[in-house]
Formats: sequence, structure tokens, C-alpha cells
Amino acid sequence: MNVRNCKMCGKIFNYVVGPVICPRCREAREEKFQEVKKYIDEHRGADILEVSEECDVEPGQIHQWIREERLQFADDSPIKIACEGCGTMIRSGRFCDKCKAEMTNGFRDAMGLNKTSVKEPAHRETKSDGNRMRFL
Ligand SMILES: [Zn+2]
Ligand SMILES: [Zn+2]
Repeated sequence: MNVRNCKMCGKIFNYVVGPVICPRCREAREEKFQEVKKYIDEHRGADILEVSEECDVEPGQIHQWIREERLQFADDSPIKIACEGCGTMIRSGRFCDKCKAEMTNGFRDAMGLNKTSVKEPAHRETKSDGNRMRFL
């Protein structure tokens, strides 16, 4: 049994997998998520600070939901987060399209498509028998 302290309330609970948060806090956080989602739906012009204050939730938590691609924003929403690769402002996820494409290429390289195994031709040793001509 893996007993841990909940990161949010400090209560001891039986930890299984994922973030170190007890079931009760997990549920509370899920309710908070629904509240944030609803607020964003109803206030499309709201930025992260406003959502954070109105819903009483950490801006960092909102960022995390955006990274997890759980929150959807209207095209005119001011809410954007920085790409973890280049800092371009994006609307969801962790990376912009450009970085995603680059990572796909990097992945391909890592798979070893540019691996060239050049084998040197084996040297054939020419042995001379050592026949000597004798001049008489
Ligand atoms: Zn807790
Ligand atoms: Zn990027």
C-alpha cells in the first residue's frame, strides 16, 4: 500500500496513480473545472486573471487544463498560453504547430532513418609464396 499526503489538503490517503491528490480533492477540483469551463463559455472575452478571480482557482491550474487540452476557447478569446518550445502564443496544448512538426521530424531522425552503416570492404591479403628466381 502506498500512503501519501494529499498535495492540496494534506490528508493521508491511499495513493494509486496520477497527481498526488486525495479522491475528495480530486472531485472538488473536477467540480472547479466544470465551473471554469462554464464561466469561459459564458464570458468568452474573459482572460485567465479574470477567470482565476471569478472562479477562485489558481492561474497555474487553468494553465494546466489548457495544456491538457481540456479547455476550449472561442477564436476571439484573449486566453492564450506560450508554446513550450518557442514561446509563440497558442490556444491549447503544449506546443505550436511548427514545434509539433519539428518534433515529428526529430522523432523520425531518432528512429534512425539517416543511419548509414558503411561496411568497409574486407582487405584481401595477398600472400606471396616467396618464390625466388635464381639467376644462375
Ligand atoms: Zn485532499
Ligand atoms: Zn513553438
